[in-house]
Amino acid sequence: MDSDVRPSLAVWTFASCDGCQLTLLDCEDELLPLTGRLRIAHFLEMSTAEDSQEPATLAGTGPYDLSLVEGSVTTAEDVQRIHHIRRISRRLVTIGACATAGGVQALRNFADVEAFRAAVYASPEYIATLDTSTPISTHVPVDFELRGCPIDRGQLLEVITAFLAGRRPNISGHSVCFECKRRGTTCITVAHGTPCLGPVTHAGCGALCPAYGRGCYGCFGPVAQPNLESMVSQLRHDGMSERDVLRVFRTFNAASPEYAPVPGLAAQGSTEPPAEEEPR
Ligand code: SF4
Ligand code: SF4
Repeated sequence: MDSDVRPSLAVWTFASCDGCQLTLLDCEDELLPLTGRLRIAHFLEMSTAEDSQEPATLAGTGPYDLSLVEGSVTTAEDVQRIHHIRRISRRLVTIGACATAGGVQALRNFADVEAFRAAVYASPEYIATLDTSTPISTHVPVDFELRGCPIDRGQLLEVITAFLAGRRPNISGHSVCFECKRRGTTCITVAHGTPCLGPVTHAGCGALCPAYGRGCYGCFGPVAQPNLESMVSQLRHDGMSERDVLRVFRTFNAASPEYAPVPGLAAQGSTEPPAEEEPR
């Protein structure tokens, strides 16, 4: 009989670059104390076939107390696997833009997947894929979504310790602007007219880009209830063309439902708008 009473953690990956899983591995100083509090039961990225406590398969047997899921759903097999993972997980948390908003690969949602497949692969007939890349929450209930591309290690540790303690993670939905104010960065939009998605972008990076004089391009995804009408109007005022407005919202979090009101963003099958004359 298993005498280990520590809660079990499983880490799963779907279509992604593995960067968010690497953020967990990057928690070097905190990982050892953490393993005293929980048992990492399934994490292929940090396992070898020999040291894994379970067969090194893409779908473990569980049950697990907490599952962290990285990546988006892009194949028919993904759909089956995420339902299996949900069934064997007491709590399920998505980590990163791929898992919470479809990721960069959701750009396919606005394009012709057949054309992509033919352009990228020498033998496209061997590639089986869905026409869309969708967030995990499209398919199964999710207990918490952690934003970022990649996620922030401090926020990740807060999520894990919160679930160990049986409370909600203390991560508010405020914007990058709050972080600019906190670190004393002058607003680059007000001072220099630089287009910046900070007002509608979720905090977590410490307002990295504005601190170096460039606008936020939204890698942490939407804040709760973003005022997109004002944001788009401000981006136009700061000189962004319609094409660039669409592009900046279509970068990392294109499938975010919060972004759907951006003009032209939700139009399925539409590729980029035609090039237009840049504002003078
Ligand atoms: S959210 Fe970004 S860093 Fe994380 S897996 Fe996806 S592409 Fe990689
Ligand atoms: S793009 Fe925005 S959210 Fe991403 S690191 Fe830069 S300031 Fe932070």
